[in-house]
Amino acid sequence: MKIAVLGGGQLAMMLAGAGKPLGDSFTFLDPNPESCAASSGELLVAEYTDLAVLHSLAENSVVATFEFENVAVDAVINLQQQLPVHPPVKALSVCQDRLPEKLLLQQLGIPLAEFMEVNTRADLLEAVANIGYPAVLKTRRLGYDGKGQAALRGAEDMERAWHKLGDYELVLEAFVPFDAECSIIAARDQNGCVVCWPLSRNIHLQGVLAVSMAPWFADELQQQAEDLVNRLLEHFDYVGVITLELFLKDGQLLANEIAPRVHNSGHLSIEGSSCSQFENHIRAISGREVKTPVAKGFSLMLNWLGSIPEHGELVNVDGVYLHNYGKQPRAGRKLGHTTLCAADREGLLQLLDLFRNLEHPSISAAMASLN
Ligand code: AMP
Repeated sequence: MKIAVLGGGQLAMMLAGAGKPLGDSFTFLDPNPESCAASSGELLVAEYTDLAVLHSLAENSVVATFEFENVAVDAVINLQQQLPVHPPVKALSVCQDRLPEKLLLQQLGIPLAEFMEVNTRADLLEAVANIGYPAVLKTRRLGYDGKGQAALRGAEDMERAWHKLGDYELVLEAFVPFDAECSIIAARDQNGCVVCWPLSRNIHLQGVLAVSMAPWFADELQQQAEDLVNRLLEHFDYVGVITLELFLKDGQLLANEIAPRVHNSGHLSIEGSSCSQFENHIRAISGREVKTPVAKGFSLMLNWLGSIPEHGELVNVDGVYLHNYGKQPRAGRKLGHTTLCAADREGLLQLLDLFRNLEHPSISAAMASLN
């Protein structure tokens, strides 16, 4: 089947990696001529809003999807008039704005931190008076990986935060002193069948994912997370993979964000699961049945931001899987990841220990959390 993907980054590349063995071929649309998915299919270099290019993309494809949530909704609506697009555009548009996203979570009874809409300095004062410190001020749109955010630890941070973000539509949310961060990834096919991967434990550095580990949590928490993500899937009559990022506090899950797409915390499903998030996304959007993913032991993913440490002989070790996206290095850029897979947690610790002498913040973060 010919599949169109809006976006040509590493998620698109990994979608193609899963789809090709199923016999699918891929066309990517991305304004960046150096998109790393170029080696996995045909790359159309154009703006997402280029109607002529959208038309030719639609003519040459059977179904379309997107790899990131900030793709222009208008482009997706345009495409949808020409061929089926999954996941649903309404999920995309809700996830592009933190305010409707939070209101939906509230409507569906999914717990989340207290929040208030902020458009003026007076709104901010009122929101702080209600929510208290510490709190996080966030832009409603185009904020991801900790961008467009300012921490408010106390009244002394107010001016700096307003100076930084006051020109935008905002939300203030209570800071959650979480015990852990985690995410549940689920896939729903066109028959409404839902499968979930094990809830993964995530560590962020400066707001960006550095490490994911799964399975990590007890069944009870898994059930709690599956129940929450199912409400979203039902609400949207969703098709494809969805991710719900969560905070864990005192045994309870609080939603942070919804990503209507495959997710960085699910990269470990490529080797750590009988069916990856990428394969099930392709299966769902192309009208195939999703497969039940079964964890192959325990996995840990190290995200390589800014640089990929020289792996040397480590690439030959059983259970070590390096993915280099082939991108030009730049500070903070996601360049690749390595997944470690072992039969048990002990084995996973032993594999991680092999990375002890390589210098990278993701390794230090993983070591610190496991020791
Ligand atoms: P976001 O872009 O909203 O997913 O935020 C990126 C990261 O910042 C999260 O994964 C958390 O580590 C941190 N963060 C964001 N919002 C909060 C919050 N309300 N309380 C505590 N940490 C937060």
